Amino acid sequence: MGLLDGLCVIITGAASPRGLGKATAKLFAEHGARVAILDLDAGAAEAAAADLGKGHLGLACNVTDKDACEAAVAEVLDRLGRIDVLVNNAGITQPLKIMDIGPANYDAVLDVSLRGTLYMSQAVIPAMRAQKSGSIVNLSSVSAQRGGGIFGGPHYSAAKAGVLGLTKAMARELAPDNVRVNAICPGFIATDITAGKLTPEMQKAVLDGIPMGRAGEAKDVAGCALFLASDLSAYCTGTEVDVNGGSLIH
Ligand code: NAD
Repeated sequence: MGLLDGLCVIITGAASPRGLGKATAKLFAEHGARVAILDLDAGAAEAAAADLGKGHLGLACNVTDKDACEAAVAEVLDRLGRIDVLVNNAGITQPLKIMDIGPANYDAVLDVSLRGTLYMSQAVIPAMRAQKSGSIVNLSSVSAQRGGGIFGGPHYSAAKAGVLGLTKAMARELAPDNVRVNAICPGFIATDITAGKLTPEMQKAVLDGIPMGRAGEAKDVAGCALFLASDLSAYCTGTEVDVNGGSLIH
């Protein structure tokens, strides 16, 4: 018996081979879900879906494009029949100082995490409301809670703090329809978002700040996403769950 037997799930940004989205997709598939992977490149999304086994779906979708989000959700509904869970995982980061953030940097980082989370949620909410059930899981970051200091610049912290606000407000508004909305705040997880971009000194400083003494693994975040997606968390909404090895205890 899987925790997600019979459920259909959309995960954005899940084509990155070592990423949090892909690890979440794999764990969800192992728990019986049918998974639709949405990412920028159709071929990469299809290959990631094929990796999960049969019955999964990979689609191109730029989450900053409202029409693309609506079209992808329509296709998932057409091919999988329903949507029970949305994981808003797509995100990008940039290691900039406050005075170096230009308009294009601001737009790029805010648009993928924050605008993308809004557009994808708006696209699935009608179906979730109609079936009177659903779980939306948003990827925020410890950077939102502690003001960066790992890799992303202030615009990344702002984007992820925005995701927390959006999560809580959506949770309040959608609760009467039994649609739950929660956020995960990962700490430092080894994926391609920072791969090769941290100097050994930065890496040491980050690890020194983690009481558990190790970077997180993608599967650490996937486990939390499984809890929030499944009925195990049936009475949790509007929460922010830390997955950070103790790097922020508050
Ligand atoms: P990753 O770079 O491995 O994967 C991100 C994926 O998002 C990529 O596949 C990319 O193609 C996709 N993507 C980018 N822009 C997109 C768009 N406009 N539309 C659709 N897809 C798009 O990153 P990751 O480390 O797996 O991070 C996943 C999420 O977790 C991100 O939101 C990130 O900010 C957040 N996060 C990561 C960490 C960490 O330490 N890795 C910590 C805190 C939060």
